[in-house]
Amino acid sequence: MNIIRLLPDSLANQIAAGEVVQRPASVVKELLENAIDAGSSHIQLIIKEAGKTLIQVIDDGCGMSETDARMCFERHATSKIRTVDDLFQIRTLGFRGEALASIAAVAQVEMKTRIPEEELGTFISLAGSQVTEQKPIQCAKGTSIAVKNLFYNVPARRNFLKSNPIELKHIIDEFQRVALINPDIEFTFFHNDIEVYQLRKGKLAHRIVGLFGKNYKQILIPCEEELTNMRVKGYIGRPESAKRTRGEQFFFVNQRFIKHSYLNHAVVTAFEGLLPEDSFPFYVLIIDTDPQKIDVNVHPTKTEIKFEDERTAYALVRAAVCKALGKHHLAPKMDFD
Ligand code: ADP
Ligand code: MG
Repeated sequence: MNIIRLLPDSLANQIAAGEVVQRPASVVKELLENAIDAGSSHIQLIIKEAGKTLIQVIDDGCGMSETDARMCFERHATSKIRTVDDLFQIRTLGFRGEALASIAAVAQVEMKTRIPEEELGTFISLAGSQVTEQKPIQCAKGTSIAVKNLFYNVPARRNFLKSNPIELKHIIDEFQRVALINPDIEFTFFHNDIEVYQLRKGKLAHRIVGLFGKNYKQILIPCEEELTNMRVKGYIGRPESAKRTRGEQFFFVNQRFIKHSYLNHAVVTAFEGLLPEDSFPFYVLIIDTDPQKIDVNVHPTKTEIKFEDERTAYALVRAAVCKALGKHHLAPKMDFD
């Protein structure tokens, strides 16, 4: 007796969505990343009720053709890689071709998109992976995608969502990460029709001030260092400005926000002796390296990466921070061991 069968796409997508879409903030991250990969220069984020009822991202990027507007919701459908080799040359934020399929499996989605070459764009709506409508429409160049009633068809998931303030905090965290590493893109962010951020194009320091407040102007120390095949640039906060919470610490590798406790250790040891006890220094450190020297395909949310040469990354970050602190006559005591 044969008992094994292939799952229907909608169910397979819903299972896969469990990995990519954990909460409204995951949707925000994926949609913002797609807008960036599309080469946008202005991105709007509009959410209602901490993203539980609406998450909309409007961009002025490359848009999609009529066929692509349908294809983008298929699982493993992507324009960003074609071959296995491409996996080790990744310059885009996305590449797995999973996000939109996953989102469409657990929400109601409406999208308008137009490529510059066409006069008319495409409107498409889906619910639970099924296309409910598709038609030509007049719309601006770029893409506007609205994700409504997240987990409307997965009550267990919906019940796991936290209170609005907590879900909003997660969204703000994701937004800050994306906005920080893209200071040359203009962002606006509205929650329940109230402006949360309005960020003009500028340098990284302007963006930091735009996101975290005017008083950051006084605390930023520029930071830069280069080793073979790897560069780091960014800012650290003056030691006396360190906070009791670790929220404002950011590493980016090839434009991607990552969490990396080993690299964080490199920063912390460079600060040693200068920080008040139990405090966490501000930092935004941007590492650039050959994409072949890192593996970003470690985790579905792509916030973890593997360095081929982790020690070099550690040495680079530590040296950069030591040097930056030294320049401001704050060098830690020399260590003779
Ligand atoms: P991935 O980003 O990993 O390729 P997604 O499911 O997020 O997978 O998106 C699928 C495809 O849809 C992308 O590869 C891209 O071609 C297209 N796409 C998604 N969002 C946008 C957008 N905002 N503008 C233009 N194209 C988009
Ligand atoms: Mg994507």
